[in-house]
Amino acid sequence: MTSTDRRVVVLSTRDIPGDREHVVHNCEDCACPVSGERTARDLPALVADPLVRAGDVVEVPLDQEHFALFSPNGDGGVVVLDTAGRALLDTFADPTPASAVVAGSPALERAIQTLVGFDVLHPVGKPPTPRFESSTELTAWLHVTNKCNLRCPYCYVHKSDDSMDADVAKDSVNALVASAQRHGFRSLRLKYAGGEASMNAAVLLHLHDHALALCREAGLGLSAVLLSNGVALNGALVSALRTRDIRVMISLDGLGETHDAQRPTVAGKPSAALVLRTIDRLLAAGISPHLSITVTSRNIDGIADVVRMAVRRDLTFSVNFFRDNDCSASFDDLQYEEQAMVDGLDRTFAVIEELLPRRSVLGSVLDRGQLVAPRRRACGVGDDYVVIDQNGGIAQCHMEIARVVGDVRTDDPVSAIRSGTGVRNLLVDTKSGCRDCTWRHWCSSGCSAATFRATGRWDVQSPNCGIYRAIYPRAVRLEGLRILRYATTAD
Ligand code: SF4
Ligand code: SF4
Repeated sequence: MTSTDRRVVVLSTRDIPGDREHVVHNCEDCACPVSGERTARDLPALVADPLVRAGDVVEVPLDQEHFALFSPNGDGGVVVLDTAGRALLDTFADPTPASAVVAGSPALERAIQTLVGFDVLHPVGKPPTPRFESSTELTAWLHVTNKCNLRCPYCYVHKSDDSMDADVAKDSVNALVASAQRHGFRSLRLKYAGGEASMNAAVLLHLHDHALALCREAGLGLSAVLLSNGVALNGALVSALRTRDIRVMISLDGLGETHDAQRPTVAGKPSAALVLRTIDRLLAAGISPHLSITVTSRNIDGIADVVRMAVRRDLTFSVNFFRDNDCSASFDDLQYEEQAMVDGLDRTFAVIEELLPRRSVLGSVLDRGQLVAPRRRACGVGDDYVVIDQNGGIAQCHMEIARVVGDVRTDDPVSAIRSGTGVRNLLVDTKSGCRDCTWRHWCSSGCSAATFRATGRWDVQSPNCGIYRAIYPRAVRLEGLRILRYATTAD
């Protein structure tokens, strides 16, 4: 073994100071669990058992001398190796005790610990297994109004003048807090949505204050986010959000005409300039908004531009693929072609590679999937996600908000969504096409509602499967380049 006396490079996110703060754990758009927020991983002490290279490890070249490796059957995280590190790894093609390789070198010991810690090497007979964490947070989508000042063609909401009133808001919070306690959740996450939720700002703020008081009393944590189109958030509302520490997610689908092509006002006027003004206003008030970018065939060529702006301004973002629905059915230019989507994302990834932000994009660029923590389902539907409509009706998914499975005045919301039979959010390992997929614990088969709409089945892989398989290795590459750029080594 010649690599024992050569300096090897084996890096991970552990080598980027303070890196846990640089990961986007929640796309804000959907019901994704926030299971990515884990404690920093400790590197294991080396055992006497022989070590061997894990199977199915994905390897992506970064440049002539470096490689990014990701072990899809493990617990997540990318490691970067140089050619000497790669040679070190090859030593374990056959079972070999670490002690035979380390030969008293602390650098080699740490390199091997990193490879074991990130599931690239494992003791013989003990292959890596993912750690699926059960949810401790109940997420609720509160549909505070059916009104909206925009008319986006891909929106699934049948707009009306209906809004949640103060009584329904109070009943909803009462039911959610009681339900969270009954089912053992430790915190509540509220998403204020619509329509355009800011058009019912008074009820929204009242609702939030009531939730804060009840959660305090119940010993539950509380976090909240306003999902907004960003057209008309005035200074008073921005200040009220800031005071209450309510996060803000703004929909921005491109810059200028690209955004306007799919997010016009009710009167058919452009809205991009208004949204950019709101982003400036939020930043000036000390709120860094999260950007939600919905991709259709109309704006596919402009995604890279909005991502460039987001990275330059250090804004978090998430890229979400358009999901077909009844309201959008009459627009035949929203559905994307697979190759066009892959090409548009490739251009986006090229921008990220060029700017190479310190912030990880593993939770931002993979639609409903991510490479942060393994999951068996893409979202919390039927488990830890409740949707409440403006009348107090309980639904399982906001895309299926009309399919009511209970009422906040009479039913326990969590029991209602768990026993509801509308959306079947099956485990990825039970889906045909996904069972043996390398990416199954990361993609988790995408949005169940979108799959059912496209195929009429709940138990099959996503119609976006080809796109997902194409972009996951590219995301591993971006993470590898980021580690290479920002890691600082102790020696
Ligand atoms: S949808 Fe495709 S990429 Fe995703 S888990 Fe299923 S087979 Fe894998
Ligand atoms: S089923 Fe789809 S639309 Fe509904 S919450 Fe899950 S990922 Fe989102």
